[in-house]
Amino acid sequence: MLLSAFRETAVSIPLRPHRHSDNDGELRTYIGYRVQHNHARGPFKGGLRFHPSVNLGEIRALAQLMTWKTALVDIPFGGAKGGIAVDTTQLSAHALEILTKRFVQKMAPVLGMHQDIPAPDIGTNPQVMAWMLEEYSKSHGYTPGIVTGKPLELGGSAGRLEATGHGVVAYLAGKAAQDIHLPVKDASVVIQGFGNVGFHTAQHLVTMGAKITALSDARGGVRCETGIDIAQAQRHVADSGWLEGLPGTESLSNAELLELPCDILIPAAVEGTINCDNSEAIQARLVVEAANIPVTHLADTTLRERGITVVPDLLANVGGVLVSYYEWVQNLQEFPWEYDTVIQRLERRLGRVYTQVRDLAQQRGVDLRTAAYEVAIGRVNRAIDLRGF
Ligand code: GLU
Repeated sequence: MLLSAFRETAVSIPLRPHRHSDNDGELRTYIGYRVQHNHARGPFKGGLRFHPSVNLGEIRALAQLMTWKTALVDIPFGGAKGGIAVDTTQLSAHALEILTKRFVQKMAPVLGMHQDIPAPDIGTNPQVMAWMLEEYSKSHGYTPGIVTGKPLELGGSAGRLEATGHGVVAYLAGKAAQDIHLPVKDASVVIQGFGNVGFHTAQHLVTMGAKITALSDARGGVRCETGIDIAQAQRHVADSGWLEGLPGTESLSNAELLELPCDILIPAAVEGTINCDNSEAIQARLVVEAANIPVTHLADTTLRERGITVVPDLLANVGGVLVSYYEWVQNLQEFPWEYDTVIQRLERRLGRVYTQVRDLAQQRGVDLRTAAYEVAIGRVNRAIDLRGF
C-alpha cells in the first residue's frame, strides 16, 4: 500500500508562450503532475516543482518522501508532490503566471486546504504561490491556507523563506557535526546549489563560524580556500545571473566541486548528484542532504562503508515543511506569529527529532537514515491501522 500512491493526476496545459513574452514560440503543451502519496495522518502536503526534467517517476519518489518527512517531524499531514516540466528561464513572468494559473484551474478538484496543500520547491517561489492562491480563491473564496510559502503580505509565515536553509540544515549540520566531534567553527563547507536552500544554508553556516570554500549553481562552481563572501556572491548572482566569474574565486565544474576535500559537504541541488560515479571520491566527513534524494541508494552504502556520516534528507531539510505547517496553522487561526516564535518552535522541534533519530540509530546500531525511516514509517502504519484504511 505504501509503495504506490493514493492518487496520481496529470494535466496538459496548452500555452503559446510568445503571446505573453518577447520570445517567439509555437503552441506548446506543458504536462503538470500532482502525486498524492498518502494521507493517513492528514491532508496531502508537498511542494510544486518547475523544472525541465520533471517527470512522473521523479514526482512519485518525491511525493513518497514527503509522507515520511511529515511523519518524522510529526505534523498532521500526509505526502504529495507536483510539478510541471518547463524551463522557466524561457518564459516571461506573464507566461509563467498564466501557466501556473491554468495548472491550478485543472488541479483544483484535488486541492484544498483540508485536502492537499502545495508549497514552493525547485523553480517555484512565493510569487508562484501567490498566483496559485489567487486562482484557487476565484472559485472557492479567499483561501490563504490552500498553499504555503506565500508572500508575507498574503498570509505567509515569518521565517518560511529561510526555514529550510537557515535554521535547519545549518542547525542539524551543527548537531551532527558535534556528534562526530567536528567543530563547525572554522570547518570547511562545500555547497552544491545556490538557490533558496543553498543560499540560506551558506549564510547561516557563516554566522556559526564555518568557511564556505566552494559553491555552485546549475552552470558550475566557484572555489576560494579562504572562504567565499556569501553576500558578495548573492550580489554577483543578482547582477549577472550566475556565480561564474565571482571575483576572488577560481571556477570548477559541479563534478569537481563534489570531490573537493572539505569537512562538510551539502548537496542542495537536485536528485542523484552523489552516485556510483563519485561516491568513492567524496572527501567530506559529514554529508548533509539539503536537497531531496541527492545521494543514490548504492552511493549511500558506499559513504557509510567509508565512515562518512550522512544526515538524510527527511531529517536535514524537514524545516521547510515544518514551517509550512506553522504557516497553515496561522492561516487557520487567522493570527500571525512573530518571527522569534516561529524560529524557537522550529529549533525546539528539530532538536527533539534529531535527538530521537540519533538515539534510535545508536541503540539499533544503524545509520541516521534507517532510524529516521523507522520512526516515520511506524507513525504512518499506526495511523493506517487506527483508521482501518
Ligand atoms: N518543497 C519542500 C520540500 O521538499 C517543502 C514542502 C512543503 O513545505 O510543503 O520539503
